[in-house]
Amino acid sequence: MEELATIDALRARLAASRARGRPVGLVATMGALHAGHAALVADVRRHAVLVVMSSFVNPLQFGPTDDFERYPRDPDRDRDVAAAAGVDILFAPTAGEMYRPGTTVRVVAGEAASRWEGAIRPGHFDGVLTVVAKLFNIVQPDVTAFGQKDIQQVTLIRRMIAELDFPVELRVVPIVRDTDGLAMSSRNRYLNPAERRAALALPNALRAVVRAWEQGETDAARLAAVAEALLRGESAISVDYVAVVDANAMAPVPEATAGTIVAAAIRSGSARLIDNVILGERRP
Ligand code: AMP
Repeated sequence: MEELATIDALRARLAASRARGRPVGLVATMGALHAGHAALVADVRRHAVLVVMSSFVNPLQFGPTDDFERYPRDPDRDRDVAAAAGVDILFAPTAGEMYRPGTTVRVVAGEAASRWEGAIRPGHFDGVLTVVAKLFNIVQPDVTAFGQKDIQQVTLIRRMIAELDFPVELRVVPIVRDTDGLAMSSRNRYLNPAERRAALALPNALRAVVRAWEQGETDAARLAAVAEALLRGESAISVDYVAVVDANAMAPVPEATAGTIVAAAIRSGSARLIDNVILGERRP
């Protein structure tokens, strides 16, 4: 695996590869790698000859009360995980390399970012789309993979690709879970054992929603109530939202159908955790 830290070096390296007609894949991460990230690499690997992983804790997507400073950073371990996952080029720029002094231009995520994660983290998705647009322009990938775990992010990246005409194929990879059912996340490191046990209410609640839907419940409010009852039954966590929404606008739907998203966010200890299920697809 090669490691590069500057945009110029990466561009030069990719130009040589592209000239030989080798399709390029991109997996964008913030490091602190786990099996969820490795699943994205495995997916992209099937559609690209050269796989680039970016590892960059993007300051633009963190608000003043977010966990930017303490976000886990472990470059040595990341190097091993990325190499084992099959990454060809690890691109780990500094913040100064990605955002030259005086940078002010941003991508505006728009209406579908106004709810849920976007409401709780104002400006978050503008920061995400800005860095992803930069990475698309730097790497010019033929294919890219993002995780279903960050479902509103997937919606907004899909829309950005369509609305800003990026010539890249988006692949969405199902959520990778730990054996206890918790969706893998770099932020799981913040949980102590008791907080982690309490956080299992999140996947449990989503499983209960899927069961209710499979038993014929389609009323969105009643499906949300199933999840909320289970989450509120776990007194050690707090609930940010339970959303029953469509996949294009992240807007609430009155009736759930196959493809409807049920997304939820909780806090356990000092960790903010998100999870979701797409009705009619793989169970959580
Ligand atoms: P992050 O490093 O948290 O910004 O995540 C980088 C990419 O990995 C994003 O596309 C995430 O959606 C994806 N990802 C994170 N956790 C998981 C998971 N448990 N399963 C699948 N993909 C994931």
